[in-house]
Amino acid sequence: MSAPARGNIVILTGAGISAESGLGTFRDKGGIWETFDWQKLATPEAFAADPHSVHAFYNARRDNLLAAEPNDAHRALAALETLWRGEGRGDYLLVTQNIDDLHARGGSMEVLHMHGELLKSRCNHCGHLFEHERPITAGTPCPGCGRTGGLRPHVVWFGEMPLGLDTIYEALGT
Ligand SMILES: [Zn+2]
Repeated sequence: MSAPARGNIVILTGAGISAESGLGTFRDKGGIWETFDWQKLATPEAFAADPHSVHAFYNARRDNLLAAEPNDAHRALAALETLWRGEGRGDYLLVTQNIDDLHARGGSMEVLHMHGELLKSRCNHCGHLFEHERPITAGTPCPGCGRTGGLRPHVVWFGEMPLGLDTIYEALGT
């Protein structure tokens, strides 16, 4: 018998892995950005101009997500992580471009969401970051500072920097 494989693993997933779970992809043909105009929904400028439409769009995405379930691909990656970490074979980093939580619900212990997370919002006034499943409007008060008008989806919009790049570069360099 040969020795078990060892090494450090970095995995990158995108919208394709969640398409099987019924969540529409964004940039592909037939994807969400063919139906909706990203310039009016997924930029800081769009949010400043029309927060109502942006919140409504992400509230609808969140409802879709809560109705979706992880699929076999999410579970397979979770099983790989369990094996790799459990047997001490090396480091394991799962990076996803997806803003859904299906990797976590599929059993993944640690997920780096480079484009943010749909089930989190943050406050532009105080920086408070929090998890929620309920809809948010421009009139929803921040659970951190109590002020209204500052909450935005914790997602990376067009023109914004992806999250966790230092961690990703570091993992790729080892
Ligand atoms: Zn706040």
